[in-house]
This record gives sequence, structure tokens and C-alpha cells, in this order.
Amino acid sequence: MPQLLRRTKIIATLGPATDQKNTLEKIIISGVNIVRLNFSHGNSSEHFFRANKVRKLANQLHKYIAILGDLQGPKIRISTFQTNNIYLQSGDDFLIDSTLKNSHNNQKYVGVNYKELPQDVSPGDYLLLDDGKIQLKVIKIQNTQIFTKVVIGGLLSNNKGINKLGGGLSAKVLTNKDKLDIITAAKIGVDYLAISFPRNSMDLNFARKLITDAGSNAKIISKIERAEVVKSDDTIDDIIKASDAVMIARGDLGIEIGEPQLVGIQKKIIQRAHLLNRAVITATQMMESMIINSVPTRAEIMDVANAVLDGTDAVMLSAETATGQYPSETVSSMADVCLGAEKTLNNTNNQLIFINQLQKKINNTKEAIAASTMHIANCLSKIRAIISITDWEHIVLLLSRFNSQLPIFALSKHIHILNIVTLYKGVIPIYFNRTGNNIIDARQASNLLRDQGFLTPGELVIIIQDNIVNQSNINNVTHILTIEEQCK
Ligand code: PEP
Repeated sequence: MPQLLRRTKIIATLGPATDQKNTLEKIIISGVNIVRLNFSHGNSSEHFFRANKVRKLANQLHKYIAILGDLQGPKIRISTFQTNNIYLQSGDDFLIDSTLKNSHNNQKYVGVNYKELPQDVSPGDYLLLDDGKIQLKVIKIQNTQIFTKVVIGGLLSNNKGINKLGGGLSAKVLTNKDKLDIITAAKIGVDYLAISFPRNSMDLNFARKLITDAGSNAKIISKIERAEVVKSDDTIDDIIKASDAVMIARGDLGIEIGEPQLVGIQKKIIQRAHLLNRAVITATQMMESMIINSVPTRAEIMDVANAVLDGTDAVMLSAETATGQYPSETVSSMADVCLGAEKTLNNTNNQLIFINQLQKKINNTKEAIAASTMHIANCLSKIRAIISITDWEHIVLLLSRFNSQLPIFALSKHIHILNIVTLYKGVIPIYFNRTGNNIIDARQASNLLRDQGFLTPGELVIIIQDNIVNQSNINNVTHILTIEEQCK
């Protein structure tokens, strides 16, 4: 294999920083696979502008870049202060009142955008503001007013988020803004749409209906960020099964469950997503210090590497690329760390994990085909790559759920499929217009990968193809081929 291929994918959030000069081009060249349009910020014309620019650049650079829209969801926020910010000292009394309007607030009280908050909290609860930097203890509730005592003080500025320690806020999952943003996302033609703060599969089924009704075929990513969702394996599985992929949204989740619990929960969500054949993204503050520094801290390097070793499909950058000073340096550093971590997953480790994966219950023919393909690929030492020639992303997803150090080339003529599979660990999307003759296509596909420098003559590949008998009968055929010399 002449090229060193990174298996873990990188998601970069777009924003004012990536709008600068040629920054978007630079981050794509540095290794971004998926871009995130964050609907919590910016307006629809900005999202359209960014998506169009991404598509144009992807085309020019011959890359497949998926577009992920991320809905804001029912993020609960305080309103604004007369002075834009205040400083709370521990021990201060502070009142939150859902009837207070913007800018009328001061050192003593503030409004909140969620009028049910007084019904959702009880005396003794802790409210965490600004990603947990400020902590308030609820003392008593009177109608619309929540009386609190400051436990951890600090600078509090306009519109900061509020979470309840332990979760349990009943805010409905899709706000009116989200519903409008779903329509914008459908018009943009996003490949993935992330749903913020889902509570269970019912929320996701509802979101899926709205997305379909808006005319979108976007895959659904559930952001796991509520304490009640990670209460048990059953609650986690309920969300995973109703999603196409999940995101470990460590910002809000960490605040709700307490940061130390995140370590185990991250590993558990990744394991369960793999077991249930879903892709998984690890997000938030992965390279946070690179918002203002040109190199990451060692702790950040270890955090990204740890997510790779846990088996995440993708790692995500938020403010680092959206508003940071070093977007392309951040993506390059992240790509280097992923490659470094992947190298430590040696063959013996992989084989052991793979043997364990073979114990997993197989539920359908497609899964059985994927398992047997990966078994051959992992056991026949001369195989250098898996090639999937397909019109559907599902078989690619199933192949990529098995541990292997081999690249999986997904060949399709459908751009949406190529964009979708770009999220999956170890998968490289390649445009390929097949003839329909399996033998000719297998040979042409392997020649194409040789000509693009991915494979060298004499190497073995395993090729799995959709075999379309008729509309309702689609099976798969597998070939093992030796890469031929190039005709002179
Ligand atoms: C998070 O909370 O970690 C997250 C990814 O969501 P957002 O960036 O929308 O706050």
C-alpha cells in the first residue's frame, strides 16, 4: 500500500474563521472529511454560502466532503444583562426569573428562555451556567422565580447556557427554530443532520418524519447529551437504534453527568454503536487550546488518541475551526495524532478484537456477507484492501464495523453515497461508474485504484459487489483479484 491512509475521520465546524481567504481550502487539504454547519450560529444565507463553497472546493480538489447540519435544539439560555456581563461571587444570592426580559437584568437577577424551568427544578438541585464554569444551588422556587445561592462564582455574560446537574429538564426536542432549520437543511441538501438533546427514540422518529417531509434524505445523527439517555444500556441502545449515527456531545453531556463519568460513557457509547452497526463521532474541546495556540497540549493529543483507540469513526472540531486563529494547523495536528494512534493498533490487537467481533450475533444476510468478507480480508495475509462496488451505503457501514487495518474503498457513482460513507472509519470514497458486468467492473475498479496510486501490481484485493438480479432481488458477489501490471 504506497499511501499512508488515515482511518479516523475529521469533522470541522465552519464559521467566520473558515470564511477567511483560502482557509476552507486549507482545512480540506489538511484532512477534513466532513464539515459541520452549526445552526446555533449564523443565518441561513451564511449556511448556503458555506455549503456551496464546500461543494465547489470538493469538486476542484477531487474529494468527497460530507455536509453535516447541526440543529440547535432546546438549549436553555439566560437572557442578557444591562452591562453585558456581571461577576458572581460564591455565596451571592442570585435569582432566575422566566418572566424577566432581555437587558433588564443585573447582579441580582436574570431572565431565561425556558419558562418551564421553575417546574423542572427542586430545592437542592444544582444549575450549571456557561458549560459548568458557574454553579448555582437552588434554594426555593416561587411561581416563575428560582432563588439560588452561588456555589462557584465567576464572570457571567449574555445568553450563556444552563444545564441541570443530573439532567431531567423536560424541554421538547425540536423547537420552532429547529423546524425552520430542517427546511433550510433540506434545501441545502445536507448529507447528515444532527438532532440536539433527543430524549429517546420517539424524539428521533418525530425528527425523521419532519426531515423526510421536508424532502431531505439526510442521515440522522443523535447527539447524546442528556444524562437520562446514558442511564442504562437500554436507554443508550434505544437512541442508537433510532439513529444512523451518534455523536458523543461531551460538552453538555459532561456537564449533566459530571466530567469524570464521561470517560467510561464515551467508551460504552462507542462500543454499543459498533455493536448495533452505527457510526459514532466523538466531539467537543478535542483541541480547544488551539483556538489561540498553534500547537495542541499533550493532554489534547492524548484525548484525541484515546478516542481513536476507543474506536470512534470521527473526531470533531468546534470553535477550533469555526472561530479559532489556527484552523488548518488544528486539522493537521489532529490528522497526525489520529495516524499516530492508529499505528499503535497493531495487527495482534486488531486480530484479537476481530475474533471477539466474530462472536457477535449476526442478524441478517448482509451482515453475514460483511463478516465473511472481513474474515477473509483479515486472515489471508496478502490481501491489501477491501473494495465495495455499491449503490448503497449500508454494506460499506457493515464492512467498516469490523476491526481491520485494511482500507475499505467504497466505489459508487452516487455522490450522496460517497459523501455518506466518508464518515465511516477506514473507508475511502471513490467515484466509479460501473458497467453492470461484475467481472469487468472488478477488474476496472482494481485498475482504477492502482492508477490512483492506492495499490501496486501483485497485491491481492477482495472485491464485494451488489449483484442486481431484479428490483427486489439484490445479493452480493465476492472476488479475490491480483492487481495487474499497468499496460505500457
Ligand atoms: C456538545 O454539547 O458537546 C455539542 C457538540 O453541542 P453544541 O456544540 O451544539 O453545544
